[in-house]
Amino acid sequence: MRGDARELLRVHLRQRAELGETEVFLDALTASDVRDLAARTPVERRAEAPAHGVPGNDIVQIGSLDSLREVALGCPRCRLAESRQHVVFGEGNPQAEVVVVGEAPGADEDRTGRPFVGRAGKLLDLLLAAAGYARADVYLCNVLKCRPPGNRDPRPEEVEACSPYLLRQVELIRPRAILAFGTFPAQTLLGSKESIGRMRGRVHDYHGVPLVPTYHPAALLRNPAWTRSTWEDLQRLRTLTDPA
Ligand code: SF4
Repeated sequence: MRGDARELLRVHLRQRAELGETEVFLDALTASDVRDLAARTPVERRAEAPAHGVPGNDIVQIGSLDSLREVALGCPRCRLAESRQHVVFGEGNPQAEVVVVGEAPGADEDRTGRPFVGRAGKLLDLLLAAAGYARADVYLCNVLKCRPPGNRDPRPEEVEACSPYLLRQVELIRPRAILAFGTFPAQTLLGSKESIGRMRGRVHDYHGVPLVPTYHPAALLRNPAWTRSTWEDLQRLRTLTDPA
């Protein structure tokens, strides 16, 4: 019951956040559900997901993408290691001008070990092609390298454990621009708590690399009305990588 209520709250808040709302009414939950959720303390969260394996400080000093992949493929730093089929490290051009960052592997990615496959992946390919990028020219990865069960939202301790891989991927590739698909990649890289609805529409700065946030292709499949905004964001990205 406690887990169900928590998941319901997460899904509800996420949907409201994607719509750009900062205030919500939790009318689908009872007062005791909300009390139950609030009772889950940071100490409990840390106990659920002890970070171990290679320390984050060591990950951010690994010297090549291949070595980083090798470490990630055996990573035990959070409890997603217990349920994954594959670590989805990332793929594409190691000298890409654009790094595309999604949230986390879904069922198809977990099964194949590849990022952005399935329906959302096909839509991603179309969006990239329409903006003039071939899939093989960019580098594709996610904030989390292992699938959260049931496609639930990443938990803070999972993002904390896994983000050193993403930060090092970006450092090693040194792209001209980053395309952040959805709330979690933009929030993780920018250290922001804003919704994707508020962050998109402008270019942000990630340690000197321009970062364009936009809606995730999976969200576009659910909300086709966001296609126009996404297209505008991709045009914004294009201007950043076109020769001056
Ligand atoms: S999600 Fe990231 S930190 Fe957690 S086990 Fe997988 S690779 Fe390691």
